[in-house]
Amino acid sequence: MLEALDKRIEDKREEIVALTQDLIRFPTINPPGDAYQPCAEFIGARLKRRGFEVSFIRGEDTPGDSARYPRMNVVARREGGRPGPCIHFNSHIDVVETGHGWTVDPFAGIVRDGKVFGRGACDMKGGLAASIIAVEALLELKPDYPGAIEISGTVDEESGGLGGVGYLAGKGYFSRPRVDHVIIPEPLNKERICLGHRGVWWAEIETHGSIAHGSMPFLGDCAVRHMGAVMDRFERELFPRLAAKHTDMPVVPAGARSSTLNINSIHGGQPEGFDGLPSPCVPDSCRMVIDRRFLIEEELDEVKAEVTAILESLKAERGRFSYSIRDLLEVLPTMTDREAPVVRAVAAGIEDVLSREPDYVISPGTYDQKHIARIGHLHDCIAYGPGILDIAHRPDEFVGIDDMLDSAKVMARATLALLSPHQTP
Ligand SMILES: [Zn+2]
Repeated sequence: MLEALDKRIEDKREEIVALTQDLIRFPTINPPGDAYQPCAEFIGARLKRRGFEVSFIRGEDTPGDSARYPRMNVVARREGGRPGPCIHFNSHIDVVETGHGWTVDPFAGIVRDGKVFGRGACDMKGGLAASIIAVEALLELKPDYPGAIEISGTVDEESGGLGGVGYLAGKGYFSRPRVDHVIIPEPLNKERICLGHRGVWWAEIETHGSIAHGSMPFLGDCAVRHMGAVMDRFERELFPRLAAKHTDMPVVPAGARSSTLNINSIHGGQPEGFDGLPSPCVPDSCRMVIDRRFLIEEELDEVKAEVTAILESLKAERGRFSYSIRDLLEVLPTMTDREAPVVRAVAAGIEDVLSREPDYVISPGTYDQKHIARIGHLHDCIAYGPGILDIAHRPDEFVGIDDMLDSAKVMARATLALLSPHQTP
């Protein structure tokens, strides 16, 4: 069976290239969320021809949803002949902007040197194509199987996934008993299994002052100087403390095995982007957005308390220091158990196809697994796909054709093992 499966997948080399090209040619740039509907319809039409029941689910009233840019998701399900578990392959169809520096047309799907080039080739239309080809090859050889297979193409992953997996999870699409195992073919390299991700807390800190004439700043209170004091304390206390924390999570790259904080932006005083001269004013407001990534060993409450303790102590030390803080986003860390069925099935596939042990990794940033864990309460979920992580979002993005075929073989084996857990193929 496995030999026949490999042969079948290798015979689909041209098909996997053509499918990847077709997917790249939909310029599904997010924001604004362009071409979602035709891309979802293309996937749905293909899978319908293979006997899938296809639903289109629009993320109604989610951020960015409009008549011009509908947040259109596609979910395709094919029931086997007998009851059994359901395995789901979830890919996001949105891509990020192209940016500068391309030497090929980012939406032409150029093939060169064994690679397909284009925005989204790696992240993650190549992974979507690999999962579709894996499932189609398996269905041709084994049309009668227990359980069900699902493939979805979802939107807005690059902007938080609220109109995509987040919305569908809220409607029960990523919960038992409908679904048991989920593989997200994100580009983490074909020999790696990604078990989850670190947590995120975004917040906006504002320091307050009072406006006065800039020639007599002593009559006002400069909010930017107060923010300077915040940054000074961050430098002296917070950054060393975060760097000293280490996680047992196998995060890649290794630098992300500590807690991190990025100062995303600072704005104080008069707005930027005008041509004339400024007027002489003491700024009465300064705002800083922080992007704090935390570890599975940390509690969100403690993460927040480290920052507010610094702000409170500044309040005690500095005359007139006042601040406010506003949460923008919270995502808890998630890590699937290494012994979970989907992990073991994909690991066995990697060992068989690539003749090596898999590497187990954790992503420094989040992806749609957060919604599946938190909203769907489904924890048998990983990311596994063919693209090379470092290539994502870059100019001249590509996916290797051999990598897609290898990962399709791994996905097909994992599907077979998960659908027939008690029989050796
Ligand atoms: Zn992605």
